[in-house]
Amino acid sequence: MTTILDATGAGRPPRHPEKAGRPDTAVQRKPDWIRVKAPTSQGYRETRELMRGLKLSTVCEEAACPNIGECWSQKHATMMIMGDTCTRACSFCNVRTGLPGALDAEEPQRVAEAVARLGLQHVVITSVDRDDLADGGAAHFAAVIQAIRAASPGTTIEVLTPDFLRKDGALETVIAARPDVFNHNLETVPRLYLPVRPGARYFHSLRLLQRAKELDPAGFTKSGLMVGLGEAREEVMQVMDDLRSAGVDFLTIGQYLQPTRKHAALDRFWTPEEFAGLKATAEAKGFLLVSATPLTRSSYHADADFARLQAARRAAAARAPS
Ligand code: SF4
Repeated sequence: MTTILDATGAGRPPRHPEKAGRPDTAVQRKPDWIRVKAPTSQGYRETRELMRGLKLSTVCEEAACPNIGECWSQKHATMMIMGDTCTRACSFCNVRTGLPGALDAEEPQRVAEAVARLGLQHVVITSVDRDDLADGGAAHFAAVIQAIRAASPGTTIEVLTPDFLRKDGALETVIAARPDVFNHNLETVPRLYLPVRPGARYFHSLRLLQRAKELDPAGFTKSGLMVGLGEAREEVMQVMDDLRSAGVDFLTIGQYLQPTRKHAALDRFWTPEEFAGLKATAEAKGFLLVSATPLTRSSYHADADFARLQAARRAAAARAPS
């Protein structure tokens, strides 16, 4: 378990000040299917040095992702734009909470440079929540997309955005920049929003995904869920139906891992067989693509999955009556 709750860094405030007063929750031992190797490869080190050199944040590090050794060894890093400090305080998330600094106008160019130097065919760009900005950071997302397009015209771009709650016009700004995939994670079932995602609203997030599809029907939409927070299987199935009603193409489901003792308590580890069952159910409900394994994350294998997503759409079009 990562225990960096109170790691302040050089002169920085506590990482999660809003969680400091919470009681510690019990830590459950990880099952064998969750264990991953420590990151040691040359590719991992090169990716880390590139990110440090360009002063870029990644969700891979900030969220303490278990897949970092595998992904970074293949140069697959998910850059987190607009700083490393989030204005929300979700109880599952390891990203630093607080008041972020001003936007860095040079960041889009540095992200584009990183994408070019990593040689990525497909890149995932995410961000912290920026409730402090009038547009929630939408124009910055658009600038990043445009900079990547200019530097790497062959690279497909996936954005994993905040919910832009109360930011009228923000989604339209992002979609106008034409990302190949628009991703927004529902994260959990509606019953658990208050304890897990207190600053968000389930139906707003669902509507955001539906609206993204309405604005760009040719684009792909994607959303993700964690299990292990106390949800029932029937609740997950209801969320699948909601996402299909919103026209979402691609669903990811992974195991919640508790970042520290102060974060939301882990209810249980779902087994690989249960994940296989979720995948089969979701596929039967009509998603173009489903990834559901214990270590699935929004951006895990996103490049290969994008190719599968395109192939699934072509296959569905070929089956459709003319
Ligand atoms: S799964 Fe995503 S967040 Fe995790 S290391 Fe891979 S690219 Fe980064």
